[in-house]
Amino acid sequence: MLPPLAVFDYVRKLFASLETLSNSSNSELDQTKQFHLRALNYLGISYALGYSLLLFVLTYFVTIPFAYEDGSGNRDEESISSIRYLTIYIYFNFIANYVLLRYGAAKSIYCTPRDLPYYSVTTREDWKMCKQCNQDVPARTHHCPLCNMCVLKRDHHCFFVGCCVGFHNQRYFICCAFHTLLCCALSFYFMMLYLSAHYVTFLGPEFFKYFLPYALVVWLFGSTTFGIFFYILIFYLNITTLLASIFFFIWQFNLVKGGQTSYEFVKGKKTYQTNLLTSIRSVFGPFWILNFIFPMPCIKNEGDGKTWMNGNTKYL
Ligand SMILES: [Zn+2]
Ligand SMILES: [Zn+2]
Repeated sequence: MLPPLAVFDYVRKLFASLETLSNSSNSELDQTKQFHLRALNYLGISYALGYSLLLFVLTYFVTIPFAYEDGSGNRDEESISSIRYLTIYIYFNFIANYVLLRYGAAKSIYCTPRDLPYYSVTTREDWKMCKQCNQDVPARTHHCPLCNMCVLKRDHHCFFVGCCVGFHNQRYFICCAFHTLLCCALSFYFMMLYLSAHYVTFLGPEFFKYFLPYALVVWLFGSTTFGIFFYILIFYLNITTLLASIFFFIWQFNLVKGGQTSYEFVKGKKTYQTNLLTSIRSVFGPFWILNFIFPMPCIKNEGDGKTWMNGNTKYL
């Protein structure tokens, strides 16, 4: 097989493994699928951290100063500083929520296959047996074949962070998606100004030149520099990441609104649906809006993630 086709085939296999993860939450993965999923995990983490760093450097040092510079080299330093502070604030929120998302994943673990001996909590009828962990686990707890552990109120496995999103870290996932959205929107605006000045006007008559294969050919034939092609490539990744973060944010917002996890949504299960405020407090805690302004690990979300009654979690 030709090398590009082999790479394509390998990438296809990697993504085919994803289906296994979502369809067989209670079955064991064979070694090849485990390997593919681990590779995707590292790829996702590298992309999230590497791309965010690259985007921050380009925005902070190149596109923002350029936007406040006139043709004769004079710079509006006050505006540059203000926008740079805003950039630092948004990127800080992104990184802090990313770290807390990872930290909260450990808190969401209910049990692992190493937790012996087996015990059964027969008094709670909504609990079920996890064959991998050999334990009875609470309602809404699911086993992640990749993390190989049972996660409280498991929503999904996030490949960009390399861990499961569950009861104790769902709010950081939502806030992380929200600040990724802001990071990308800010970088998009300043990159658009930069490319409009150095390449062709964005949404202008020659907008077709932003078409990536066209930009590649133009660079290969020497009509433009590698730098410009590189910026266009980053611009594409920026738009893709922006759209993905909007999707993740709206998707999670709907789940919180409906009091469901992704798994329950797909299965059409509405057992734990409750009123909006209770759902929000269960995910974000009492002062939910503050989480979007600054990371709030000191304010706990309500409930224990194990006891769910009549749609509400019993606050212990
Ligand atoms: Zn388990
Ligand atoms: Zn997982």
